[in-house]
Amino acid sequence: MQFKTILVTGGTGYIGSWVVKELLEKSYVVRMTVRSKTNKAKYQHFDTIAEKNNGKLELWEADLLKEGSYDEVAKGADAIIHVASPFTLRFKDAQKELLDPALLGTRNVLNAATKSGTVKKIVLTSSVAAVHGDNIDMKNQGLTEFTEEHFNTSSSAKHQPYSFSKVIAEKEAWKLAREQSQWKLVVLNPSFVMGPSLTKNTNSGSISFMQDILNGKFATGAPDLYFGFVDVRDVAHAHILALENDKAEGRHILAERTAGVLDMIGMIRKQFPGKFKLPKSKAPKLLLMLIGSLFGVTARFVKQNVGYPIQLNTSRSRDKLGLTYRPLEESVKEMVESMEPGTNN
Ligand code: NAP
Repeated sequence: MQFKTILVTGGTGYIGSWVVKELLEKSYVVRMTVRSKTNKAKYQHFDTIAEKNNGKLELWEADLLKEGSYDEVAKGADAIIHVASPFTLRFKDAQKELLDPALLGTRNVLNAATKSGTVKKIVLTSSVAAVHGDNIDMKNQGLTEFTEEHFNTSSSAKHQPYSFSKVIAEKEAWKLAREQSQWKLVVLNPSFVMGPSLTKNTNSGSISFMQDILNGKFATGAPDLYFGFVDVRDVAHAHILALENDKAEGRHILAERTAGVLDMIGMIRKQFPGKFKLPKSKAPKLLLMLIGSLFGVTARFVKQNVGYPIQLNTSRSRDKLGLTYRPLEESVKEMVESMEPGTNN
């Protein structure tokens, strides 16, 4: 199926900016929603991107928290890429800042698609956080890896609320997809996203985590945490593959590999020797349980995640979507370069 006009939510953000860029490079008409057109700083990085490409960029105002907000912009769109949802590690009120925008936003955007009468496909940016909760879950559930068959069962509004926001949003999306037959849903479940940012105006947890590392926050010892990692440009490309491939369906875990935070920091040290105050060893788990709150994590999080490696099965993304991955070393190097003062991102 050939699509022309694509509505993108969250296009101002870290991942969404790369999605919009690739769509413009491929000559699509992109309807990008912003919360307020007056906040030009959020989208000025598109001035040169839009100029250089054949695609057309349209700006529309919409807010995940306002019911009916996406109804007008969805009318006439062929497909929607729904990226918008807060990914922040720094929040005060999880309900207001994470759960409401994730769930109500998904409901608003997907209902707008149904009302539009024109939208035929929705690509949803979920997360691997909707696949699994605490790393200890793999051991507790007797698994050797997580696959797309799994849903996170251990997060809640109180424990790992960001992950919970992704679970309830993705489940709502599948429910709404089953209730209609006009559009097809394809879901992407990226792991921890790394790589250069096109914008400095993002609150993405990916950027703040890297800033914390470079600013020496973990200088005395890195948390012994393990994540899947994936490059932001590969995540964006997966959205385009999911959009354009008629056979794309279901969920797709996105990860180049799983690795420890200390392994990732080792890549920074190797590529930028002596430049940053980086930890050389792991922080003791007991200490993290005592002082974790200083780093914004609870003792329960530390207990159930620190020291537990995970495995993610990424074969669907490679075999069904045809995605190839950049090596993590490259993502880390180019992310650090894009964040150094004086570099032009
Ligand atoms: P980001 O840079 O903070 O992007 C979030 C986007 O959501 C921004 O465009 C933001 O708009 C928009 N947004 C937030 N609240 C909104 C609201 N009330 N109304 C309208 N738009 C709103 O974060 P990101 O890392 O790119 O994350 C994007 C998506 O990827 C999220 O769904 C996240 O869960 C998912 N994801 C991220 C990662 C990762 O490691 N980064 C991994 C897996 C999945 P403003 O510009 O106006 O703030």
